[in-house]
Amino acid sequence: LDIEEFRKAGYKAIDRICEYYYSLQDKSVVSQVQPGYLREALPEEAPEHGEDFDAIQDDYQKLIVPGLTHWQHPSFFAYFPTACTFEGMLGDLYASSATNPGFNWSCSPACTELEAVVMDWSAKLLGLSPEFYNTSGIGGGVMMTTASDSALTAIVAARSRHIRTHPGTPLDKLVIYVTSQTHSLGLKAGLVLGLQVRVLDVKAEDNFAVRGESVKKAIEEDRESGREPFVLVATVGTTSSGAVDRIDEIGTVLREYPNIWLHVDAAWAGMTLSCPEYRETARLEAINNYATSFCTNFHKWGLVNFDASTLWVRERTLLTDALDITPEFLRTKHGDEGTVIDYRNWHLGLGRRFRSLKVWFVLRSWGVEGVRGYIRKCIALNDIFASAIRSSPDFELVTPPSFALTVFRLSPSTLTPQPLSLESLNDLNRLFYTRLSKRHDLLLTQTQLNGVFCIRFAVGAARTEEADVRRAVDVIREEATLAASAWQE
Ligand code: PLP
Repeated sequence: LDIEEFRKAGYKAIDRICEYYYSLQDKSVVSQVQPGYLREALPEEAPEHGEDFDAIQDDYQKLIVPGLTHWQHPSFFAYFPTACTFEGMLGDLYASSATNPGFNWSCSPACTELEAVVMDWSAKLLGLSPEFYNTSGIGGGVMMTTASDSALTAIVAARSRHIRTHPGTPLDKLVIYVTSQTHSLGLKAGLVLGLQVRVLDVKAEDNFAVRGESVKKAIEEDRESGREPFVLVATVGTTSSGAVDRIDEIGTVLREYPNIWLHVDAAWAGMTLSCPEYRETARLEAINNYATSFCTNFHKWGLVNFDASTLWVRERTLLTDALDITPEFLRTKHGDEGTVIDYRNWHLGLGRRFRSLKVWFVLRSWGVEGVRGYIRKCIALNDIFASAIRSSPDFELVTPPSFALTVFRLSPSTLTPQPLSLESLNDLNRLFYTRLSKRHDLLLTQTQLNGVFCIRFAVGAARTEEADVRRAVDVIREEATLAASAWQE
């Protein structure tokens, strides 16, 4: 494409994106294609000669769109939704146009400078303490791809600190702590680094949050048997049930073990910290007092399109001591003088996308009040859903609703003649969920909490309105009735 052809193709692309958004609610949420559909539709090799770009864009409509699950659909209630905004898309477009790997300050000063500023804006938005600001010169924030990447980076830095402060420690003695509710990122970090992972149990009566006493007991057991726990991944808003670990208690315990790094994964629920009224529930004070590092994903609940994970550390040298490798070809005057941030030393990769641009666009266009309004709206919509579940004799909440997530199951008192055992209830709920997941007009996902099969309902798509939630309640009731009668046959 030359510049003028790009202009035309670009207008057309924007028109089509607008049409896509206008018609989103008329589409099925879930794609109905079969595995391998695209391989059948596409040639075996890239074309020898360049093709007409109109034809390529038409094929996007014809072949790719039908294979999309519409995460921006107002009836997408699965996983944790990824709200996305036009401002974010435009930010990404400009970032692509600059295509700048931004690894050193000097290789594109705006990339580093904007990121440092936007990370401070975001830290303030979330109420993080000034120790985490880039302006502190000691702590700071960096943009990452994913929460998994953020956790892995924090764990690499924690391992490095442990080895520096305990020279000679055999690596097979090191232990990463997670809980049974931590996202798979904890186990994955263990896999990648070849380190042991200890999975701490949590109890239903604690709402699946890990308590300080379990952490203390595990540390004492491990240290007695020669193992060295060096990092604990705590979660604010677990994936299965939105549990908030007792960071206050854990932090108090870890004060006795200052070499254990506390990484707080708030990939989803971190955005609730933007609203002062949720800060206590999300344990902001404990995060500010005790977290060595903290992560949230703007690409989940922060109105920014994927990817936009944000990681803050209390001491930036913890990252740079672990990750700074500076061959001659990467040296710069400012880097040598130490007067600028060179973000390549804060994470695993070298090159990096200009992600801060889209966050900047979103924060400026929505404003702090706009972001808060959206978070509050999602939580209010989830409250409507949770109340409907609570007031129905045939459903139960498995855990108290957490922010914009409700975990529930069918627990019939009118739909089946007699009360059911746990096993039968699980079977019934599997059947119920199978029915629900065959629907294409909404999407929910399932989970298990200490052996109890349950269903998750998460509000977060930027277009979800009350009517969508009420329609979901109706569909769920309808499918529950059908599942209960099928189960009894
Ligand atoms: N942490 C939590 C609590 C999550 O719920 C998720 C994903 O849903 C993740 C981490 C993983 O996020 P990412 O895809 O950014 O690695």
